[in-house]
Amino acid sequence: MKANPIAAGVDFEADGIQHGHLRLPYSRDDSAWGSVMIPICVIKRGAGPTALLTGANHGDEYEGPIALYDLAASVTPEQVSGRIIIVPAFNYPAFQAGTRTSPIDKGNMNRSFPGRPDGTVTEKIADYFQRYLLPMADIVLDFHSGGKTLDFVPFAAAHILPDKDQEAACMAAMTAFNAPYSMRMVEIDAVGMYDTAAEEMGKTFVTTELRGGGTSTARSAGVAKRGVRNLLIHAGILTGEIERSDTVLLDMPDGCFTFAQDDGMVEFCVDLGDPIQAGQMIARIHSTARTGVVSTPYLSSLTGILAGRHYPGLVKTGDCLAVVAVAV
Ligand code: ZN
Repeated sequence: MKANPIAAGVDFEADGIQHGHLRLPYSRDDSAWGSVMIPICVIKRGAGPTALLTGANHGDEYEGPIALYDLAASVTPEQVSGRIIIVPAFNYPAFQAGTRTSPIDKGNMNRSFPGRPDGTVTEKIADYFQRYLLPMADIVLDFHSGGKTLDFVPFAAAHILPDKDQEAACMAAMTAFNAPYSMRMVEIDAVGMYDTAAEEMGKTFVTTELRGGGTSTARSAGVAKRGVRNLLIHAGILTGEIERSDTVLLDMPDGCFTFAQDDGMVEFCVDLGDPIQAGQMIARIHSTARTGVVSTPYLSSLTGILAGRHYPGLVKTGDCLAVVAVAV
């Protein structure tokens, strides 16, 4: 396979702290021999495990970048045993634009794996992670939030995996992150995901959904900052005590997703974190083209809590309207 065109401006084997860029050549109208410059920080001291930490896999999700720019600016090599690789804005062109996908090629990073060295900008970044960064890592944390179109109760998540030892390691890391909720997660479509790439390499992998709506809150940013430090302490990379508080373990059984069958204006009948009974109305969609039309009810097929919801007030047919999760 071809070499990846990205040049790393950091030495992954050097002790100490380095702030640099992954430089991807990108020739365009306003810069003929220009580049995409993806910020990267490497902190290393001696031998030990490697953590690979990423935010803004989707460019409109902010808790991860907040926690990771903060970590890169505050952690010192003396606190570290092993290595921390921090890429706070994984899909950097999308992050700069404040959009889920890249404005260059419309690439959705989390649907672009394993990537291609001779593909689009997004595919080239994915290929670099697939063949260069992921193989260096023992533990991988990829921050997500709902972005502009979804909102979630704040949770860390690990996937149900065929290898039960690996699944147990992922669940232990998720618990150590210690978000208010911990989700045993099922994906709508796992093909092309960074999660799947990391898990297929046998890595301990944790992801999150920490609110959304295209911004962050004081509380959700705090969950992210505390969680990443807890995870690094759990991995034996940072010294210190894990800050623990109660976490609610959640499952996503069949029937957890509700999709809109209509275009219109959504009215939620329960809020995030509220309990809901099977058969209870989650939301209704109002038709807005004329008055006098009865709204369409959307009923929960599960008894649990509202863990995720569509964020904007208008919905389109096929949008994910709600996620109901069940306490374990
Ligand atoms: Zn995301």
